[in-house]
Amino acid sequence: MPSSHEAAFRSTAVSDVIIVGGGAIGMTTALALQARGLRCTLIERGTLGAESSWAGGGILAPLRPWHYPQRVWDLVARSRALYAELQDGLQRSSGVDIELLHCGATLLDSADFDLAREWHARVGLPCENTHCGNAEAIAMPWVQQVRNPRLIRALRGAMEASGIPVWEQTPVQALCRDGDRVTGVHIDQGALRAPHTVVAAGAWSGHFSESVSARVRPMRGQMLRLEPASDHPSAAGIWLLPEAYVIVRGDGTTLLGSTVEDAGYDKSVTPEARERLLRTAASYLPWIKAARVVDHWAGLRPGSANGEPIIGADPALRGLWWNTGHFRTGLAMAPASAEELAEAIRTTG
Ligand SMILES: Cc1cc2nc3c(=O)[nH]c(=O)nc-3n(C[C@H](O)[C@H](O)[C@H](O)COP(=O)(O)OP(=O)(O)OC[C@H]3O[C@@H](n4cnc5c(N)ncnc54)[C@H](O)[C@@H]3O)c2cc1C
Repeated sequence: MPSSHEAAFRSTAVSDVIIVGGGAIGMTTALALQARGLRCTLIERGTLGAESSWAGGGILAPLRPWHYPQRVWDLVARSRALYAELQDGLQRSSGVDIELLHCGATLLDSADFDLAREWHARVGLPCENTHCGNAEAIAMPWVQQVRNPRLIRALRGAMEASGIPVWEQTPVQALCRDGDRVTGVHIDQGALRAPHTVVAAGAWSGHFSESVSARVRPMRGQMLRLEPASDHPSAAGIWLLPEAYVIVRGDGTTLLGSTVEDAGYDKSVTPEARERLLRTAASYLPWIKAARVVDHWAGLRPGSANGEPIIGADPALRGLWWNTGHFRTGLAMAPASAEELAEAIRTTG
């Protein structure tokens, strides 16, 4: 009988593409490639989706799109159109509901009101003046949320259903090189070869290239889960505050985020961040004062300049592709990023 490693090596030996990293970006990329008839193998150092993609809030828009480059908005806008399809497809293949909710967002940061109105008028999306308690606010009814831990479960289920081989608890040590061509990856058990290798290793992507390490680095985000008292909003929603936001899920689960910290690969949480987030939120949303903190965690975003991801072929090494650097908007940009990269690889042949 062949060992499970031999069997896994055999299945990988017929792969067209090896994907390094099993976050939302790596998994959506694998599914988009497989849908185009390319055989993929995904290698994950730990557990699928357990890093930034789990830690995030699941708001499917940049927090303040008017501060972002057009490229980010284009990817978000294309992903908005793809999410409804993705939701249906994932439900069918995995049986998991990703809880895509058209809940809208309420902007309470008055310093941004003028920019917000101008931006909405320019892109043709609705926004209207409203109130939140006594405070003036802008309602952005088009904003959606997804429940990211469920998205991860659904993506895992869809990959299983598609027969995509996944190696978990398997760190990629280095890329295999043959001159200026990347021919696969080195793992503890040996070399895995494929004509194409995609690095989707989130905040760790820079480990595979000096030029990418100059552009993508970890940016810590701390998040709280709250148990609100009885007077909290009963419907799902998102409130955008100066340097904080609150997300209420469909079942009332409430998240308060998030910091943006340059702390290297340190994922610890701090009492200062917790106090600051709670103070800010309570000053805008009085019901937060009575809420109890039931969880506090941190994730490492793949930070990049202006939040613009790197999607496409490596400029120097043939066979090497990147899908990384999605910073604060990786869940919002995942479907379009995956489609764009998969199409580029498919047309290369
Ligand atoms: C607190 C917080 C709030 C956020 N809120 C939102 C939000 O509301 N909306 C939104 O769109 N985005 C949000 N984000 C950002 C979003 O989570 C990220 O942009 C997105 O998850 C990045 O996905 P990824 O797959 O590139 O990275 P990750 O999910 O980090 O996945 C990368 C994977 O690569 C693996 N890996 C690394 N090195 C190796 C190796 N050598 N070998 C094998 N595997 C390796 C890692 O183990 C990891 O699983 C938030 C992030 C945080 C931290």
